[in-house]
Amino acid sequence: MVQNADMSRYTTLKLGGPADFLAFPRSTEEIAALFSEAGRAGMPVTVIGHGSNLLVRDGGIRGLVVRVEKNMRAIRREGNRLAVQAGAMLAAVAAAAAEAGLTGLEFASGIPGTVGGAVTMNAGAYDGEIAQVTERVEGIHPDGSRMSLSREEMEFGYRTSAVKKLNLIVTEVTFALQEGDPEEIRRKMAELNARRAEKQPLDMPSAGSTFKRPEGFFAAALIDQCGLKGYSVGGAEVSLKHAGFLVNNGGTARDFLELMQKVQTIVEDRAGVRLEPEIRIVGEEEPACST
Ligand SMILES: Cc1cc2nc3c(=O)[nH]c(=O)nc-3n(C[C@H](O)[C@H](O)[C@H](O)COP(=O)(O)OP(=O)(O)OC[C@H]3O[C@@H](n4cnc5c(N)ncnc54)[C@H](O)[C@@H]3O)c2cc1C
Repeated sequence: MVQNADMSRYTTLKLGGPADFLAFPRSTEEIAALFSEAGRAGMPVTVIGHGSNLLVRDGGIRGLVVRVEKNMRAIRREGNRLAVQAGAMLAAVAAAAAEAGLTGLEFASGIPGTVGGAVTMNAGAYDGEIAQVTERVEGIHPDGSRMSLSREEMEFGYRTSAVKKLNLIVTEVTFALQEGDPEEIRRKMAELNARRAEKQPLDMPSAGSTFKRPEGFFAAALIDQCGLKGYSVGGAEVSLKHAGFLVNNGGTARDFLELMQKVQTIVEDRAGVRLEPEIRIVGEEEPACST
């Protein structure tokens, strides 16, 4: 358990203030124990994965942050299925699938998040979505009760699932895949990752696409058409390489949130489309200085 943990070290945006406490559980039992301790101490709990879709505000996160990543990464093969602990990174799971000659997860190999985060967000790319390959999700409720959900019960939608509504902590996911040729699977993954590297500013801290794709439009195209590539607030800027990515160039969470608001306002005024955030925003604002 780390006290006063600098959350900019645990998010790909590299922003945000400290969490009071940060824990790296090794098992479902440890997650349950952490929730019950936090409950006794009256502490709120925030669950995160790799922090690749997360903006932590500058004031940090009060209470306990449970990071399901470091110690819960096991991947088990069962025929054409992979049963994977929630903290495994998608890249590792896609590589394990390729190794086993199982196809279906190629689209996910370049998404820099955990399986738990991917199921929560129904992460997707290149016409693939985590919902398509998810068979079952195991989880635990803050009161310690276990849940096992089918794909239907997960209510997957565009970048959303029932995880938040059910207050579920995802602990394991079973992916149902199909037999394929390992070479072909690896070739496809390499091709998609090359496309990603060509289009996305992977050398800058970001949380991926900042906004959801509005019905009938592309967020990046709208932002680009409004002439906003390179537009900045403090150290937060609209990527010159991909307008859908707002990147951190040495700014604060406050800069980033202000940039998001400005982009939303300008796009709404000029194109008549309201952009909604895809990233999850957590934590508290920094207290205003009293002078
Ligand atoms: C360069 C870059 C490219 C990206 N490309 C894509 C892309 O192509 N497609 C795409 O969909 N996304 C993309 N993303 C966004 C991100 O990688 C995905 O949303 C990913 O699935 C988030 O996983 P995470 O483990 O980082 O989750 P986090 O960011 O840590 O958390 C995201 C949400 O999930 C919740 N959560 C995390 N783990 C659990 C758990 N075990 N139980 C319950 N709740 C949990 C958190 O509370 C939070 O609300 C990209 C991000 C970056 C930085």
